[in-house]
Amino acid sequence: MAYKIILDPGHGGSDPGANFNGRQEKDDALALAMAVGKLLTNAGFDVEYTRTADVYNTPFEKAMIANNAGGDLFVSFHRNSSAVPNTYTGVQTLVYNREGLKEKLAENINKNLTAIGFEDKGIVERPNLVVLKRTKMPAVLIEAGFINSDKDNELFDNNFNEIAQGIADAIIDTLDDSGISATDAQVYTIQVGAFRNGQLANNMAAQLKAMQFPAMVVFEDGLYKVRVGEFKSLDNAVEMEQRLRAMGYNTFIRS
Ligand SMILES: [Zn+2]
Repeated sequence: MAYKIILDPGHGGSDPGANFNGRQEKDDALALAMAVGKLLTNAGFDVEYTRTADVYNTPFEKAMIANNAGGDLFVSFHRNSSAVPNTYTGVQTLVYNREGLKEKLAENINKNLTAIGFEDKGIVERPNLVVLKRTKMPAVLIEAGFINSDKDNELFDNNFNEIAQGIADAIIDTLDDSGISATDAQVYTIQVGAFRNGQLANNMAAQLKAMQFPAMVVFEDGLYKVRVGEFKSLDNAVEMEQRLRAMGYNTFIRS
């Protein structure tokens, strides 16, 4: 299974987040999360979103979506706001506490975004923020500049692709430093059969097991699929596939 990154566009639906001259935080958050997600997907990561449309979920529901999806990392996207427009500028990343992977990730995000021109408003511990507290995986929340700062909005709009790339690079580099890469987490398995009838699948699996193949049946997309093994190396998967093919099975390797 590939390393799974959950991207959480802040707010949504009936909750617009912060507003400034008709600009809504929820729209900036969604656009940025989707752009970062595309880059991470291209890099081979498994990416899921808490929303991809203009819908509302409570922060608690967002945390549960991430937990139920089995996420390995959670990144929430927001824009900051101050009481009086054009008083503050800069990027800030929030974490539950300053420990481990999430602190390193927050540092790298701030570093990459300040390189684009944002002021560095640092890393802030927010242990009571629901999406940071209730998610079971390392989590960060990015405040990508102030939405009620003309300077930050100009930076946000003129450097949108660079900002998305900077965040994606920060994620990839932080994971890389911790020995995690999208492809390392890849597992290969050999599919030997797919049946509408579960009994046929069980029969095939039993037959394979009798010959010492590590077979199992998985129900997926309306079919009972018979699969053999879980291999970290493609070479090992290919080797076993050749043995199965020599015995007359129609196989393919899936990752
Ligand atoms: Zn927000």
